[in-house]
Amino acid sequence: MEDNISKIKDRVDIVELIGGYVKLQKAGINYKARCPFHNEKTGSFFVSPERQIWHCFGCGLGGDIFGFIRQIEGVEFPEALRILAARAGVELEPVRPEFQNLKSRLYEICELSAKFFEKQLHESATGKRALEYLYGRGLTGESIEKFRLGFAPDSWRSLKDFLGRKFNSNEIRDAGLSVRRENSGEDYDRFRSRIMFPIFDLNSQVVGFAGRVFETGSKDTAAGETPAKYVNSPQTPIYDKGRILYGLNHAKMAIRQKGRCVVVEGNMDVIMSHQAGADNSVASSGTAFTDGQLRLIKRYTDNLDLCFDADSAGAIALERGVDLALSHGLNVGVIPIDEEGIKDPADYVRKYGDRWTEIASKSVPFMAYFFDLSKKVFDTSTALGKKLFAQKILPLVASIANKIEQSHWVAEAALALKVKDDFIYSELANVKARRSYTPEEAKGEAVTAHEVTGALSPAEEDLISLLIKEPCLAGSIPESAIPFLSSTFKSIAEHLKIMAGDESVKKDRPDWAVKTLTGNPVFSPISMNIEVAYLKSDELWKDRNIEHLEEEFKNILCHIKRKGIMAKLGSLEYDIKGAEKACDKTSLAKLLAEFSSLTKELVQ
Ligand SMILES: [Zn+2]
Repeated sequence: MEDNISKIKDRVDIVELIGGYVKLQKAGINYKARCPFHNEKTGSFFVSPERQIWHCFGCGLGGDIFGFIRQIEGVEFPEALRILAARAGVELEPVRPEFQNLKSRLYEICELSAKFFEKQLHESATGKRALEYLYGRGLTGESIEKFRLGFAPDSWRSLKDFLGRKFNSNEIRDAGLSVRRENSGEDYDRFRSRIMFPIFDLNSQVVGFAGRVFETGSKDTAAGETPAKYVNSPQTPIYDKGRILYGLNHAKMAIRQKGRCVVVEGNMDVIMSHQAGADNSVASSGTAFTDGQLRLIKRYTDNLDLCFDADSAGAIALERGVDLALSHGLNVGVIPIDEEGIKDPADYVRKYGDRWTEIASKSVPFMAYFFDLSKKVFDTSTALGKKLFAQKILPLVASIANKIEQSHWVAEAALALKVKDDFIYSELANVKARRSYTPEEAKGEAVTAHEVTGALSPAEEDLISLLIKEPCLAGSIPESAIPFLSSTFKSIAEHLKIMAGDESVKKDRPDWAVKTLTGNPVFSPISMNIEVAYLKSDELWKDRNIEHLEEEFKNILCHIKRKGIMAKLGSLEYDIKGAEKACDKTSLAKLLAEFSSLTKELVQ
């Protein structure tokens, strides 16, 4: 494995690889471009042919060739490895041949089935009626083709017989397309008399289906009950429901370009949205929203807009979706559909066509949405209404990480409830925030987060970039900043200080500092940090003189220290409140003293 990775790295040139995706321009020893991962007018995306890495100073993304393919293609490492191996002409040994083989058989079954259903839709008598129905719902022929809609005939065995020429019944069942009858042990088609929506993975391979009921009689179920409106493929070795979003294969580039992802409820909503031009829309097909799906979205954007049906089930799904998205640190908006008789995006597009694209691009921040909704629903002139309003809103306010934004909503809530801001703040302290996860930002970067992982914070990476340029700066770190620096950073600074004073270390080349860092196995876990710092030292500090570098170094240290103090003050505040509540005078005095000395340090 290691061997293959280095073989691939040897054979694939990063400039050539990335140049195939973005327009690179030579800038000194490096190449520069407009970042493909965030929206920008000037280029802050750099590629270093010397170090074979890339980094964007705008959005902070960076890495090697594998990291680039993972980001731009939106795939996991094994898939990136496969793509690059093919490019490099390196043969990978399959991990488990029999499993690989089964999977490729299942892909083939799903693809053949999709073709079978498509043909039925266009050629069979019932299929043609289904096609008319789809046109009647506002779908164009182009959309039907793009999303490969089909029709499963009203038969217990037509697909099974069709596939049976090439595949055995176990394989067809493994692909989720047939079901075994318990008493007779015989298999029958899972989808009967249904309009078929193939479900695709990121590479547009069919992995499963959703079937919508169409013109079915009582023979669909043994007991003559009404059949379910939707039937979905079960989980299979190629269809991991929690990690597939309907429409993402078509939407991924648009999500990146538009910088946001719209999540709608149904497959029809996705297709109609794309048809109207809102091609950054996806749906969580056949499941409730999952962590895996959100991680998938996060590869493309941090901005998520939810547009769920205007009914009570939709409202519950919306709240859950907002919670989950917040817990992943996404910026969440809501797209309300506020019109009588229109309950979802599909309805809207049918009536107004392209106008949907404009609506879909204007989301309301989730807090504003829930705030207005709660004001409408609860009568805040009554005691009960106030209580319910507070129960609904305060956990949401508590979950806002940004303090300025939070204070805005505290003031709004105070106004709505006709109480003082202070009262809301004290209530907030009692409310357990709905989110269980705190984004890195809120933790105070220099204090703990990076201590544990050993990684460097971005600010520390900047410091290293200065040290690589001017190693003697390592001797100028003031005592007072030390507690706010990570142990990883401190050991790098220490190492450089010793090296700078060591006569035996050759310093004839300007990059001796980075060479001694990358050459030392102690620092190999953070080698990527060091590579990026080196790239930064080149790009950010190229023509700066020593006074300038000293100044920058001091500023960044100061920034880290301030941030550390602010974080410490924040946690002290909580401790002080706790001590006050517990009437613990000894601790309180100690905490207050610490608080005031830190505050003094802050103003210095
Ligand atoms: Zn960027």
